[in-house]
Amino acid sequence: MTVQLSGGIAPGETMHTLPKRNLKQAMFRGMMCRCPACGKGSAFGKYLKVAHACEACGEELHHHRADDAPPYFTVLILGHILIPLVLAVEVAFVPALWLHMAIWIPLSIALTLAVLPPVKGTLVGLQWALYMHGFDPNVDDEYAMMAGVKTAELYGQ
Ligand SMILES: [Zn+2]
Repeated sequence: MTVQLSGGIAPGETMHTLPKRNLKQAMFRGMMCRCPACGKGSAFGKYLKVAHACEACGEELHHHRADDAPPYFTVLILGHILIPLVLAVEVAFVPALWLHMAIWIPLSIALTLAVLPPVKGTLVGLQWALYMHGFDPNVDDEYAMMAGVKTAELYGQ
């Protein structure tokens, strides 16, 4: 039996026609901590604070909702790198516990701080390319809507 669907929205489409954005390019630009739209301006105002808008092209970046995803993916990535390293060092050299702690704790902290911005930038690029959250100009920002305020009112449009 064949079921034919009609009138639905295909994956990747929104209700309104929007130009398709290059997902890989946007995620790569985000990983480089650059604006996903132009790749020139910085995506971050401060260390992990996403810029309100790109300084080069003016694209609004504050619509992102990365939330807990950057720490989650950072733990996922670094866990797959550090845990095998810890185990390999333990098996090969059997160092004292204090030496393990002296090596792995600072290394874990340093790598976490280094990996968090590219991971967050990648996720902001993904959300921008897929018109997620407030990046869709035809949809009001859901967080603002929850507060009973339309995006246009928030930003004086
Ligand atoms: Zn830009």
